[in-house]
Amino acid sequence: MIYCDYQATTPLAPEAREEMLRWLDGPDGAGFGNPHSPHRLGRMAAAAVDLARERVATLCPPGGRVIFTGSATEAINLALRGSASRGDTRPVAVSAIEHAAVRDTAADLGCPVTHLPVDREGLVAPEPELPRDVRLVAVMQVNNEIGTIQPVERIAARARAAGALFLCDAVQGAGKIAPPAGADMIALSAHKLYGPKGIGALWVRDGIELAPLITGGGQEQGLRSGTLSPALCAGFGVAAMIAKEREKADANHVESLWKKVGELFSGWTLNGSATARWHGNCNLRRDGLDAARLMADVRTVAFSAGSACASGSGRPSHVLRAIGLDDRQAKSSIRLGFGRYSTLAEVEEAAERIVAAAQMQE
Ligand code: PLP
Repeated sequence: MIYCDYQATTPLAPEAREEMLRWLDGPDGAGFGNPHSPHRLGRMAAAAVDLARERVATLCPPGGRVIFTGSATEAINLALRGSASRGDTRPVAVSAIEHAAVRDTAADLGCPVTHLPVDREGLVAPEPELPRDVRLVAVMQVNNEIGTIQPVERIAARARAAGALFLCDAVQGAGKIAPPAGADMIALSAHKLYGPKGIGALWVRDGIELAPLITGGGQEQGLRSGTLSPALCAGFGVAAMIAKEREKADANHVESLWKKVGELFSGWTLNGSATARWHGNCNLRRDGLDAARLMADVRTVAFSAGSACASGSGRPSHVLRAIGLDDRQAKSSIRLGFGRYSTLAEVEEAAERIVAAAQMQE
């Protein structure tokens, strides 16, 4: 099986795995402590969590704190719900191409929601029109379906000028491109940057107060009660550290794969921007293609017909619709994602299999 679905999840970095094993039991069996216990085993585990927190913070701007969560979805829920004081019904504005974690949570807040439109490339205007009295603006850094890189710094400045908080879902950009400067809150997910599944984080700018979603023992600065997993935190921390160290090398590698894919899929149309884009995301369409059938025919390549969440639902992707594609074009689109561990030979082989199967449909 050739893996070409790096936006859905990434393989675990061997360095992260090794670090995690230490905190599951440890070579001397002393790594299993509860990080909230005051004794030596607890303090060792707490030190591992602290180190992981520092490492994850390097993916964010200075001047804030990292709160570990179970996923980016939870981090986004904490940001959107936890920043609203009780009874606050002021509007929020979110881009039309946000992940369901933002879209559906915003829709559940009980306040008016404005969807900021995108152009045909998938870009939100750098100075979007915001509703009066807007309390929060959310625009993602890199889109998970079409890879568009948003002008988040300028949108953050616009939100601030309007008196709103700015939340950036940086799940697909963290560790790959520079952190979104100007954001007040940033959501991250370990499993999109070669860390483990089951852990995410919300970075919160100093001075911003949130209300907890999960109450109990008061862990995570009183914002997310429950015992932390040192192994998951440590794996996330090492994955963040390696991503930071390899940022340039990973980007160069992805660039060479992107160029190759462009050659191999000649005659296909790229969805979204070619330039304001993370090049590890290749969303392509071909007239008349039945992407669902293609996926069934090419079982030896793991790729997607849209976002992992939307594919299988039968609903055309809201992202492809937002950039102006009709249902037929959306259903003729596939997403190939590659990254650090993809080889040129694998990508060539995957492309050959997909192109050959697509031609069989003609
Ligand atoms: N935001 C984006 C852009 C994503 O791609 C994803 C996952 O697909 C999420 C949020 C949710 O992340 P998690 O799986 O950590 O909840």
